[in-house]
Amino acid sequence: MKIDELYQEIILDHYKAKHHSGLRKPYDAEVYHVNPVCGDEVRLRIFLDGDLVGDVSYESAGCSISQASTSVMTDLVIGRTTSEGLALYEEFLAVMQGRGEMVPDEERLEDAVAFAGVARFPARVKCALLGWSAFRDAASRAISGESRKPEVEVQ
Ligand code: ZN
Repeated sequence: MKIDELYQEIILDHYKAKHHSGLRKPYDAEVYHVNPVCGDEVRLRIFLDGDLVGDVSYESAGCSISQASTSVMTDLVIGRTTSEGLALYEEFLAVMQGRGEMVPDEERLEDAVAFAGVARFPARVKCALLGWSAFRDAASRAISGESRKPEVEVQ
């Protein structure tokens, strides 16, 4: 199996069976992000358990890339420290902004490496980043105690 096909399969698997999908309680902050270019949207909640990301729950709609990427993100950040989760966001962001020239660290990014090819298509980069940006926003709101702001964040 070629690497591109393997990556396609990872994306499709997450899209068909999204991990940690649904909105749950308790939560410390909720955000709503949209990517108007593609029509993707995600409402995402974060629950911090001390220093750890206790839960990330979400409802999403839109393309397979945006929804699969959100699913992969939850696998990576739940159970880690919040600062480690934010460090992973920075690493994923760097790969997605690398125009396909940045080699992702598979040990750290796991299934998220499947989106490295998306970086070659600037129009789809926002799709892959939507859920991650929502996580970053929710985490910083939860940390600062600025919780449950319902306004829309346009990417
Ligand atoms: Zn999209």
